[in-house]
Amino acid sequence: MEQAQKMQVIRLEALSDNYIFLLHDSEQNVAAVVDPAEAEPVLKKLKELKAELVAIFNTHHHQDHVGGNKQLIQQFPRVTVYGGEEDRGRIPGQQVFLQQGDRVPFADRTGEVFFVPGHTRAHIAYYFAPQSGETGDLFCGDTLFAGGCGRLFEGTPTQMVDSLSKLRSLPDDTHVWCAHEYTLKNLQFAVTVDSDNADLHNRYDEVKARRSRGEATVPSLLGVEKRTNPFFRWEEPTLQLAVNSNDPVQTFARLRGMKDKF
Ligand code: ZN
Ligand code: FE
Repeated sequence: MEQAQKMQVIRLEALSDNYIFLLHDSEQNVAAVVDPAEAEPVLKKLKELKAELVAIFNTHHHQDHVGGNKQLIQQFPRVTVYGGEEDRGRIPGQQVFLQQGDRVPFADRTGEVFFVPGHTRAHIAYYFAPQSGETGDLFCGDTLFAGGCGRLFEGTPTQMVDSLSKLRSLPDDTHVWCAHEYTLKNLQFAVTVDSDNADLHNRYDEVKARRSRGEATVPSLLGVEKRTNPFFRWEEPTLQLAVNSNDPVQTFARLRGMKDKF
């Protein structure tokens, strides 16, 4: 018998290119939100659902990820605010300080915490493993993007490769809920360094078509990222050749440097 999913992920648009993810537990009619860039779109959707906000899951301290925290806490004083241990003092209203391997409950699911420094020194991701026939859901903030990865503001290439390796070890059918609509620009870069990758070209064509229709490209699938995202492919000889290195971390670092200037 098919079981209804208790946790629905609702994608909300915010600021110029951010996504906020509202997790809705339709049974209890409560909600959680991942990285509320701003409060308005969240409040509007909660009102529509008549749902109570019980949790804020922050991935890192940047303003375009925590900008809505204060107002949401004011509206829902019982909300629990989660973030990384290393972000202590940088996330408004943070109450729970998470480390690698910690678990956070929501609806009938459990989010596993991955410590993924690199974009910032405190960045975490939340992975909700599949429950009875569902697929897993990864909320990765600005660490992994569809077709790309976050800039290294507070971390080193070694850290970022280590962080991305953790995410890369998850199952192929995992939904990748990243925090920005950067996919088209990322793939424009990707085809310049991985030009013989047929899967990448197919994806690029598909994303171009979707964007021209104004459609979102998030979530993507982790398996697609493994095949087409250059920032997951530092071991590939073709990419190593493209940046003239045979060292995985140096390959990653050079790709990241090229993308910064792209
Ligand atoms: Zn950020
Ligand atoms: Fe961001």
